[in-house]
Amino acid sequence: MNRLNGKVAIVTGSGSGIGRGIAQKFAAEGASVVVADASENGGHETVKLIESAGGVARFVRVDVTSAADVQAMVAATLASFGTITTLVNNAGISAGDTIRLHEVSEENWDRIMNINLKGVFLCCKYVLPVMATARGGSIVNIASAAAVGMAPRAAYAASKGGVVSLTRSIAFQYGHLDIRVNAICPGPIETPMSAAARASGLYKERIVESLVERMGKPDDIAYAAVYLASDEAAFVTSDLIVVDGGALRLKKELFLSDG
Ligand code: NAP
Repeated sequence: MNRLNGKVAIVTGSGSGIGRGIAQKFAAEGASVVVADASENGGHETVKLIESAGGVARFVRVDVTSAADVQAMVAATLASFGTITTLVNNAGISAGDTIRLHEVSEENWDRIMNINLKGVFLCCKYVLPVMATARGGSIVNIASAAAVGMAPRAAYAASKGGVVSLTRSIAFQYGHLDIRVNAICPGPIETPMSAAARASGLYKERIVESLVERMGKPDDIAYAAVYLASDEAAFVTSDLIVVDGGALRLKKELFLSDG
């Protein structure tokens, strides 16, 4: 059974990591997928992976902080597939954040907020009119467990907290049009982003990643995204799904070094 037959999905940041996993799973479930990413190489690679598995996808280069890019992404999707039923706001960064707030530069604060929060605003702003005209749609925002629990890094956690609040506001405002908006809060997932965070030495020691004693994989998040994008979730909106292997229950000492 293909759970996303007939859906047309934009997945931002799908040239890598979690976004790539979501794009692949969506295509395997029958959706036509727009792989939207700042990285041309990564984006084309995702399209190749989808097509070689028999799926339908096209790459659109986008910087989610640029309104012009986002508008062009929406236009390109409509030109290729005629509609947009599904938007996954996944593009995000954590680089440049440090453990202690007084060490976070203003420049990094702005960069993280721009990509992680303003990017979600812009993509929703330009996709919502299409969904409103069609009287239906599903938006899935990739927030973080850092938005709902232990939050070692402040700028990142604040940006993802904003994503959770935005999720609830948009769900409130557009529910009468059958537009559902939900967020997934991943815990530690094996991707280039989390590998870079570990390599940066931010963490005191190797973290015991979760109660199930492993890191998550992009597919762990993709399964939740497929559910939220599918008609199985027709009565689910303004909600959060935490997919973290129980990591929220781990201890602060594992993250903070002395000083
Ligand atoms: P990733 O492997 O670094 O992938 C992120 C992708 O987004 C990259 O292809 C990146 O392109 C792209 N991107 C960055 N800035 C962009 C922009 N301005 N416009 C368009 N695309 C942009 O990261 P990931 O770990 O899969 O993370 C995906 C999402 O999950 C993020 O929102 C992240 O905060 C969230 N998350 C991740 C974890 C985790 O443990 N990995 C946990 C919780 C939440 P470039 O490579 O060119 O920058």
